[in-house]
Amino acid sequence: MSTFQDLGLNDDLLQAITDLGFTKPSEVQAKAIPILLESETDLVALAQTGTGKTAAFGFPMLQKIDIDSRTTQGLILSPTRELCLQITNEMKLYGKYCKGLNVVAVYGGSSITDQAREIKRGAQIIVATPGRMKDMISRRLVDISKIQYSVLDEADEMLNMGFKEDITDILSHTPEDKNTWLFSATMPREVATIAKKFMKNPQEITVGNKNESTSNVSHEYYLVNSRDRYSALKRLADANPDIFSVIFCRTKRDTQKVAEQLIEDGYSAGALHGDLSQNQRDLVMKSFRNQQIQMLVATDVAARGIDVDDITHVINYQLPDEIETYTHRSGRTGRAGKTGVSMVIVSKSEVRKIKSIERIINKAFEKKEIPDGMEICEVQLMSLANKIHNTEINHEIDKYLTSINELFADSTKDELIKKFFSVEFTRFYNYYQKSKNLNIAEGSFDRESGRDGGRDFGGKSDSTRYFINVGSKDGFDWMKLKDFLKEILELGRDDVFKVEVKESFSFFNTENELKEKVLAFFTDFKHEGRFVNVEESQNRGGGGRRDGKRSGGRRDDKRGGGRRDDKNGGSGNRSERRRSEGSSKPRRSGSDSNSDKSRRSDSGSRPSVARRSRR
Ligand code: AMP
Repeated sequence: MSTFQDLGLNDDLLQAITDLGFTKPSEVQAKAIPILLESETDLVALAQTGTGKTAAFGFPMLQKIDIDSRTTQGLILSPTRELCLQITNEMKLYGKYCKGLNVVAVYGGSSITDQAREIKRGAQIIVATPGRMKDMISRRLVDISKIQYSVLDEADEMLNMGFKEDITDILSHTPEDKNTWLFSATMPREVATIAKKFMKNPQEITVGNKNESTSNVSHEYYLVNSRDRYSALKRLADANPDIFSVIFCRTKRDTQKVAEQLIEDGYSAGALHGDLSQNQRDLVMKSFRNQQIQMLVATDVAARGIDVDDITHVINYQLPDEIETYTHRSGRTGRAGKTGVSMVIVSKSEVRKIKSIERIINKAFEKKEIPDGMEICEVQLMSLANKIHNTEINHEIDKYLTSINELFADSTKDELIKKFFSVEFTRFYNYYQKSKNLNIAEGSFDRESGRDGGRDFGGKSDSTRYFINVGSKDGFDWMKLKDFLKEILELGRDDVFKVEVKESFSFFNTENELKEKVLAFFTDFKHEGRFVNVEESQNRGGGGRRDGKRSGGRRDDKRGGGRRDDKNGGSGNRSERRRSEGSSKPRRSGSDSNSDKSRRSDSGSRPSVARRSRR
């Protein structure tokens, strides 16, 4: 593995790299930087956002330009204002020891005269969105006739957004003999055409396969009735207490509606779409970056250029019209070496699209089931237990201990623990105890009957669900845990299924006849010096009912309208139906919703956000 020194970067850049804490070059950097430093060449690089591509073109550009000259030598075109600002920011960080460097951002929605003034002071590098750049050229506010290096960043996005003519026009004002470096996540025909038109014998590098999504993103889909989409979304959020996600909707209206509904239901959510003013969008993005918003509901266009590294989940509330867009959506997670999950909520009529997406991203989806109420209660309970376990004691409490001890003088430790946990658990339990199964069978499109998650379809439900006290923080993902269990228990290929890995614990299923063997094995089993504990779980795992009896899809469908499970006990009218699982909110404690409301508004955002460990 090469180091940044091996790539041939100068001391100023290496010092900045050390300051940034980058220890080794990412794949795209290792591939692109030597080529761009050593030769005057055009380049086509296929790489997703989040792979470190800004540095892949940024470092060579900074090293190659003449910083002592005030002439504009580098031009970077990017599709959105957000991305333009991010690139400018990164370039300034990378070039912090390049004395005299001036990088200027040029984008719409901000004063064109201020930007022109900054350029006049001498900008060696301009980072621009195509529309504003074209505008500046036509008003003669900028001179790009001496450009030596031009970058087309997220070329596929720029073409998607209809910037082809603007790009052509801008490049016609640059010298013939400049080098052009094109970066794109996907390679549709239009990008290939642009490459052919503007570039001379470009060298090509690919990170992963063409159009392929990043390898650290896993893809899951959940099959539900259209009318249960929103309830399914909430369950996915509740089953992942530390979720920090972008939720994609197809239209601005749906985006706004889903965000409003989530906020009303007590989640920390925000909307991002084109009907909001720039100011409103900036505010939402700021809250999201600071992780004050846990769920950002966005349209594809508005989400372009979202460059937040810690997104844990992308949720496709609806699939995009253009299937290729899925690659961009899922690329918002799994950035900067982290892992991520891209979830798709599909109805029966859309399930065929999953196959087309698999072909495009060259990766298989895992079919999963929307967790049932008990599973969510367990996840929330264990998440709380872990949080408490990891909480540092605040000794300010010490002075109140005598009174607290007096109050609980008659309680045993067991009772205390139960009471303490009941505060949180009962909210979820009351809310979810009668919740229905949201999953529907795939019917004639049954894709992978042998796979995890697909197992119970077709009526095979006599399995046991287990809880195990290892999770992703022990280095497991669902595949690794499944292999691990199969190996130590000496089980066959399909004997372990419905593996669900959380941060510090997991769930899995086996057929009932294996229960004794599994439980006996784990009475004194140690892994890496630690006892591994396995217990039978209360829920059956994704879709099974609490009593273990799986009700048929049709009966459940009917119940969906009949509101036996609706906490309002409502009449089943339209608005109540729309808000199934929304009418009584798990976030609010018991019956005293007013006091809870004030508690929530006091804190501004849900406390779980502030407590998130990733910060
Ligand atoms: P990009 O693909 O350029 O948007 O980069 C995604 C994120 O990765 C940014 O926050 C960069 O600062 C960060 N990054 C870029 N290169 C590296 C590296 N070699 N090591 C660690 N982080 C990096």
